[in-house]
Amino acid sequence: MTFWPNVVVATPAHSGVGASLSYRSELLLAPGTLVRVPLGKREVLGVVWECSTEPPEGLTEAQTKAVASVLEGLPPLNPRWRQLVKFAAQYYQRSLGEVAMAALPPQLRELSNEQLARRLKRRAKASASAAPEAGATTPGTAANGHDLSDEQHQALAALHSAQAPVLLYGATGSGKTEVYLRATRQVLDTATPEGDSPTQVLVMVPEINLTPQLEARFRERFEPLYGTDAVVCLHSGMTPPQRLSSWLAAHTGAARIVLGTRMAVLASLPGLRLIVVDEEHDPSYKSQEGARYSARDLAVYRAKVETEALAKAAHPSPLLPAGEVEQPRCHVVLGSATPSLESWYAADQGRYVRLAMPGRIGGGALPRLRLVDMNHQPKGAVLAPPLVAAMAERIARGEQCMVLLNRRGYAPVLACHDCGWKSACAHCSAYRVFHKLDRTLRCHHCGFTERVPRACPDCGNLDISPVGRGTEQIEEHLSTLLADVKRPDGSPARVARMDADSTRLKGSLEVQLATMHSGAVDVLVGTQMIAKGHDFRRITLVASVNADSALFASDYRAPERLFALLMQAAGRAGRDAAHSGASEMWVQTWYPQHPLFATLKKHDYPAFAAEQLTEREQAGMPPYGFQALLRADARTQAAAQAFLNGAAQQSLGLPYRDEITLYPAVPLTIQRVANVERAQLLVEAASRGALQRFLSAWQAVLLDCRSLPEARGLIRFAVDVDPLAI
Ligand code: ADP
Ligand code: ZN
Ligand code: ZN
Repeated sequence: MTFWPNVVVATPAHSGVGASLSYRSELLLAPGTLVRVPLGKREVLGVVWECSTEPPEGLTEAQTKAVASVLEGLPPLNPRWRQLVKFAAQYYQRSLGEVAMAALPPQLRELSNEQLARRLKRRAKASASAAPEAGATTPGTAANGHDLSDEQHQALAALHSAQAPVLLYGATGSGKTEVYLRATRQVLDTATPEGDSPTQVLVMVPEINLTPQLEARFRERFEPLYGTDAVVCLHSGMTPPQRLSSWLAAHTGAARIVLGTRMAVLASLPGLRLIVVDEEHDPSYKSQEGARYSARDLAVYRAKVETEALAKAAHPSPLLPAGEVEQPRCHVVLGSATPSLESWYAADQGRYVRLAMPGRIGGGALPRLRLVDMNHQPKGAVLAPPLVAAMAERIARGEQCMVLLNRRGYAPVLACHDCGWKSACAHCSAYRVFHKLDRTLRCHHCGFTERVPRACPDCGNLDISPVGRGTEQIEEHLSTLLADVKRPDGSPARVARMDADSTRLKGSLEVQLATMHSGAVDVLVGTQMIAKGHDFRRITLVASVNADSALFASDYRAPERLFALLMQAAGRAGRDAAHSGASEMWVQTWYPQHPLFATLKKHDYPAFAAEQLTEREQAGMPPYGFQALLRADARTQAAAQAFLNGAAQQSLGLPYRDEITLYPAVPLTIQRVANVERAQLLVEAASRGALQRFLSAWQAVLLDCRSLPEARGLIRFAVDVDPLAI
């Protein structure tokens, strides 16, 4: 008998090829089966999506090609995984094949059945030898962790009974990780029915190499209980064989815990019962290439799909009274000390359950905020003298300091330091961005453009400049300024720098972290990477020296980021409760009256969030409105914009078009990269559904617009749904 499977293969996002291709097979292939199929002259990896006994309409047997082979020894990808992939493709406007293939380890494409069989055998052997030592399940400190604080107890109990995604809003050092560990333990100890996959937990972190401690804690806790194979990692820093190995362990159920970055959200986890998204506010959960998905949002969706499937399985008959048995769920926990406004708003609305853990373990206070008004410092000072003096004092006492440089990722806004004028847009509640190339000020919201004024329009001062200059000088300055400072043992103070450049070499990050932990370094200077996760016990002073660029950035999310960054950085100080009373967070600013600092001073995230949400509501910004960006790359800026504007014109009459606002195309802040001109067009809607339906209908128009004569030179386009920066 002949069957006709529909197979999903990697197709370029805009190739116009349908979601799946029809093939022929002598075997009935279960949906989710991994196969190799001919495509053009090549043989490619594919996933069977459906398998029909009828030939597809309009195609004869001779017109379809046969499936080349089945990847043996691999169970099919389950329906929940397929639903997740399908949702992600639809929501983020990409092809099913692209998302499905991106979710599979690249090496799977290259292996023959013999090679795959060898890998699987090796895995099985590894799993067997990795079994926990006998008696390891008896209580031991490493395996059982601390006695929980009251807050942790309550959070864990509430998590257990939550009927919705959980937002774990816990101060830095409040013991969130311990809650994740306990929740994981509960899930892994849950027995599953005979024949079902063992339970699994997915733990996501923003950047894995920045949180080696988290991985260490999971391994230390669970390897003695479930074997050395129980915890696997999944992130882009791994080699293809490592990724394949982790993926196979997860897919076959050998791995009970997958610890990974955003890509891990698409891993095959047949026994998934808990998803943890640590530091859920972190922008790195949003992919910036290919399918621009938000791993946090997909995690929430994934938990819902899993929960629905579990509920169905638990109630085979609709007549069975609900509520009698405990409903199994796949829980999802979003943890942060400074949640994203999206998640905070969802909790305000009751869509998420908010659990608060305001206290730090050990009762240590959060550091005191000290604002340095740069208007009153010596002219040209990059580091204020009182700050330098405070640092010198700490070093002399044998304590450590951390100096945080805000990454220059924000679009530059021009300001006059004499009268406070800033390059606001006359038409929007946004600041216009300084474009160096043609010396213009452009609004990224409405497109309003003017030449950069020669002098300040308000006071005539000639010295107008981008907010937040001076980043580069800081590290050098600091070494000079602290040259005469001595440590308690009389040796000179040591300053070290840690950022993307200094940690590029493999292993150098670990070395630098170790130096910091050992106390060999007194002052660590770095970008936001030093603000994350690390548990430096002897830091008592954290300073942020150029935060201002984020206060007035054209990106409306910049204040949220800044607040999160400063809170997180502050969380690095005084982790040792003995020092916490004296620990301080210093912020240098030209705008000490800015309301952000008032809430920061009180460590009052809820007040900050409420303020921001009010502003967002008035402006119709997310989470009150919904956005997408259409981006275009082309040989010329004119072509990129012509494509975008053409696509906007031709959208008239599409479904939901009257609920959509399309803004004129604007160049990106960094307008040209490697001789490619970049432009974007903002799409806004008051409802997510309208935006989704419009975008789906728009795809065909976008494909057509590639051949507009005025868009000649267009290289590529992409849709970014729920963009993080506009
Ligand atoms: P967070 O993830 O919220 O920043 P952590 O989970 O890292 O906080 O906890 C901070 C520190 O407190 C860690 O060193 C951790 O080992 C310790 N800790 C956590 N829970 C407890 C507890 N119940 N009793 C004692 N120490 C704890
Ligand atoms: Zn001025
Ligand atoms: Zn504007």
